[in-house]
Amino acid sequence: MLDSELKEEIQQGYRQFLSSNKLNPRLGQKQMIAAIANGLGEIEEDDAGNRTSDNGICVVEAGTGTGKTIAYLLSTLPIARKLGKQVVVATGTVALQEQLVNRDIPSLLKSAGWGSGKSSGDGYSIALAKGRGRYLCPLRLEQCLDTATAKDSGAFLFDDEITFNPTSHIIASYRAMDKELKQESWAGDRDSWPESIDDVDWQPLTVDRRQCTGRRCRYIRECCFFKARDELEESECIVANHDLVMADLALGGGVILPAPENTIYIFDEGHRISATALNHFSGQCRLKSTINWLGRIQKQIAGQLPLLVNTPDLANRLEKTADVASASEKLLGVSYPLFEKFLDQNDTDNGARETRGANNFSGPSDDIRWVFPRGDPGDEVREIAEHISEHLSTLVSLLDTLSNQIGEAMDEPHYPLLRVDLEQLFQQVGVWQSRVEDTQRLWQSYSQSDAHSGSKNDSKGSSDEKPNRATKSPNARWLTLEEGAGGNMDIRLSASPTDAGGIFQANLWQRCFGAVITSATLRTLGSFSNFQQRCGLPEYAQCTAVEGAFDFARVGVLAVPDIGVDPSDARGHTDALIEKIPELIDWNEGSLVLFSSKRQMDLVCEQLPAEYLDRVLVQGQWGNQEIVRRHKEAIDQGDGSAIFGLASFAEGMDFPGDYCRHVIIAKIPFAVPDDPVYSTLSEWLEQKGSNPFMDLMLPDASLRLHQACGRLIRTETDTGRVTILDRRIITKRYGKQLLADLPPFGRDFS
Ligand code: SF4
Repeated sequence: MLDSELKEEIQQGYRQFLSSNKLNPRLGQKQMIAAIANGLGEIEEDDAGNRTSDNGICVVEAGTGTGKTIAYLLSTLPIARKLGKQVVVATGTVALQEQLVNRDIPSLLKSAGWGSGKSSGDGYSIALAKGRGRYLCPLRLEQCLDTATAKDSGAFLFDDEITFNPTSHIIASYRAMDKELKQESWAGDRDSWPESIDDVDWQPLTVDRRQCTGRRCRYIRECCFFKARDELEESECIVANHDLVMADLALGGGVILPAPENTIYIFDEGHRISATALNHFSGQCRLKSTINWLGRIQKQIAGQLPLLVNTPDLANRLEKTADVASASEKLLGVSYPLFEKFLDQNDTDNGARETRGANNFSGPSDDIRWVFPRGDPGDEVREIAEHISEHLSTLVSLLDTLSNQIGEAMDEPHYPLLRVDLEQLFQQVGVWQSRVEDTQRLWQSYSQSDAHSGSKNDSKGSSDEKPNRATKSPNARWLTLEEGAGGNMDIRLSASPTDAGGIFQANLWQRCFGAVITSATLRTLGSFSNFQQRCGLPEYAQCTAVEGAFDFARVGVLAVPDIGVDPSDARGHTDALIEKIPELIDWNEGSLVLFSSKRQMDLVCEQLPAEYLDRVLVQGQWGNQEIVRRHKEAIDQGDGSAIFGLASFAEGMDFPGDYCRHVIIAKIPFAVPDDPVYSTLSEWLEQKGSNPFMDLMLPDASLRLHQACGRLIRTETDTGRVTILDRRIITKRYGKQLLADLPPFGRDFS
């Protein structure tokens, strides 16, 4: 129960925020503050500060214009402070993260009379969390500069692993960075370096956690990453992004960010978290490339052994590493024809699928793919995968021991190998460790049968009982034939959980002190149940929906014109779009045209009348941020501009006012049926007596459609039009369910 002191602090902060900004209270915002404050206020803990009660997970769907950020900060920060917990706000993108830390949060805190967000002595302290890869490693900088000047560059720099082919311009940049670091005028954060740095030039300056010598490092005091980590530890509120939180959870939690047990998470744009989690818990391995890489390890070791005559322990361990790498290489070679056989099949076999040119939301692929039915690769694959996995596990253990040995050698003042050599060897072993660990996880997945995925004979649930996707759905496993290094064909093995629910249950909900998940779209088909399933939310999660502040009926119109054909006739629909879209766009204003298929988008773009081409920006033409910049620049200059985009423009993009007066949606964004993760889950649901269309496809489409429509009205003064070029939304029964989920725009269905 929220105590009166906390309640008053939150209420006072809100009153102050409103009066500073000359705003009236918003009903939805007040409801959101109350829902979160009450939900978190009920958490019980033991003397050690561990949550003992089954509560503290608040799900809030807050319509556009609610003012979510102020609502979740005002309600969460005082409670977290009182409980001695840290708050981790996770946004959808790095850009949003920067915006929150540098602009939104300081201004909100200031207007609530809660300080500036800079340091703990001044109200609440806020810090920005980024992955290691965004920070320069001073040790690597030293190594790179030494290599460039051929000074003491060490004997163990394997140049094909740690790429470093600097131009004089890059060396000059590195020197400038070195200078700024030494003068403490730059913190080593890539994003705050005044010039843009290409990945290829930045990568040599970074290390991953396996390559980092940590407390043994000569540069530990100057280390940019560890300084940033220290700042996180001292901050009450850490602004991260979904990827970083999932990366932390995939490492066991508490590695990059504070331990989940001491954290209250806030997931903004929470509708995206299940997809992000699936990405982080999936894996892949290119066969030939891995075989070549294992061969290269052996050559590298053979080349370095003469340098280790005075350190037989290290030499022996490296020799063993080469032996196991060789055995693993051979086994992978043996497995290749087996996987090739699957991809060579043209006929379907046991329901397995060969797909080519998938027509999906994120773009078509010309790769040939084989999806294992129900994610089951069969006994033959499992058997060889088990052998490979065992060999790779041995390799992981050998490398772990080797890494520890090298680390201990660094502590020995008279070790018969130079410190610089040990550092480089340590980094090299770290590179191997990371790759072998990832590869081993993939093969382990192929070696296991999903005990719960069941067979066709498994009993089906009763009609009103949904199968437990979170804990029982199988992994998807699939093969892709694709062009590898040097233009040679290679087979990529992939594996992914099909449902993020189990991931969240084990890694987050059971462990975290509390959590808030919010977005403008969490409910689908009028209910939270699909979202709860997708995220494996416990039954005690408190779900609340609050209204946004916009009067959609007054400011927007939803039109569904009759274009004479629906997308079930793909060719006819594309032809109709080619004819209709140029007519629908007002070429003097800002428009967003959203497609579910890259193929269809390209076909429509190819046929656009030449006079409009200079006003069209097509996804893929430039990076998304550059497209947004060009679009806004054109609108600011009083010109028209239309962005033709796919999924990444359908959510998370902010085009207020004139930047978007018209959103055109080519068709209802149903998931691609042959997406391996989707199809494996769909098959499994069907097998369990569930209806994949109603339980999976339709709710997902509803969420995407709602997000796409949500691009139109971003501020209270926005007005505009959404046009859906898919009549199924009014002719089909399910279409009416989709319509009911959309913002209540005025309607034009003529
Ligand atoms: S502690 Fe790690 S990241 Fe920092 S300078 Fe040393 S090796 Fe680089």
